[in-house]
Amino acid sequence: MSVTSFNPPVRVLMGPGPSDVHPRILSALARPTIGHLDPAFVAMMDELKGLLHYAFQTDNALTIPVSAPGSAGMETCFVNLVEPGDKVVVCQNGVFGGRMKENVERIGATAIMVEDAWGDPVDPQKLEDTLKAHPDAKVVAFVHAETSTGAESDAKTLCEIARRHDCLSIVDAVTSLGGIPVRVDEWGIDAIYSGTQKCLSCTPGLSPVSFSERAVERIKARKHPVQSWFLDLNLVMGYWGGEGKRAYHHTAPINPLYALHESLVMLREEGLENAWARHRRNHEILKAGLEAMGLRFVVREEARLPQLNSVTVPEGVDEAAVRQTLLQRYNLEIGAGLGALAGKVWRIGLMGYSSNLNNIMLCLGALEAALIEQGAKLEQGAALAAAQQAVNA
Ligand SMILES: *Cc1c(COP(=O)(O)O)cnc(C)c1O
Repeated sequence: MSVTSFNPPVRVLMGPGPSDVHPRILSALARPTIGHLDPAFVAMMDELKGLLHYAFQTDNALTIPVSAPGSAGMETCFVNLVEPGDKVVVCQNGVFGGRMKENVERIGATAIMVEDAWGDPVDPQKLEDTLKAHPDAKVVAFVHAETSTGAESDAKTLCEIARRHDCLSIVDAVTSLGGIPVRVDEWGIDAIYSGTQKCLSCTPGLSPVSFSERAVERIKARKHPVQSWFLDLNLVMGYWGGEGKRAYHHTAPINPLYALHESLVMLREEGLENAWARHRRNHEILKAGLEAMGLRFVVREEARLPQLNSVTVPEGVDEAAVRQTLLQRYNLEIGAGLGALAGKVWRIGLMGYSSNLNNIMLCLGALEAALIEQGAKLEQGAALAAAQQAVNA
């Protein structure tokens, strides 16, 4: 057998990430690789930090992309801010809160869980009560946009509660950044991590993070060295930190950073508020079509993420067969359920560049056809008509 170049099929990505990558970002990846201490590269890194300040709405000096995917951003926050023996309150309402718990326990710290049903946002009152019962807790962690369910939690309120109880906050904004408001300074977030392949529509593999002054002080005052050498911010800061003088830590992923730079330039060109409004408007159009097909949302209306639409699979429908039809016949990817919702829901992403009218119409038409093929009793054409009405509204 002769192995030749890999040419992936061209798909439309409407799952929980990665999302469609804009051609401008793909072409940025193909620009010449230069040295990671080259002055031209260092200048690009400085611009990149400025662009991340804008995306996160922060002035935090320690704002950088971690050279690994969102999960590494999560781990960076936990291993740097939590020490063995600490008490950490972890709010869980889906898959990703469970990973936070794993992180805490692997550090040798104790996770105090605040649990809410999958599909519900985190209940601020439960957090308040838990912090009253555990006055020695040092950190509060929660997921802003739970991609496993499509629920948005009230990050501003949760961070206020954490601060009132003298805790640092760790916020997962992997799916929220670029899709819905994230205001790091205004909300008093201490540590936040995101990902490139969701609403930033960049290729996967990088994790923008940002840390407040309070968080940096906590890191500098640690009694135990950070258990991970690679993610130890004391060392990473030497590379991303001081203007001009940079110490080698690891070889930065040069071309992926060009891509992130380009995606953030595009976000700035569009404007954050406009990007949020586009995600909201497109969600309304998709919703009109899905509801016309009789599909029900998992999350109640006021807590729904516009960029991640979870709907329940109708009775008697083979959910995997539907996804397979979409992929094979329409080159369209939607997401399956994860964790407790596996086999029960579809997750339709409208993230970043994927959040556009063409994708919505393709998805509604293809989903309707696949459901009718599965024997579902649907009025053919109703979904597209309802969506079109929402476009004109
Ligand atoms: C996707 C996702 C992650 C993990 O990001 P990776 O880039 O896949 O490592 C973490 N948290 C949430 C909420 C996510 O949606």
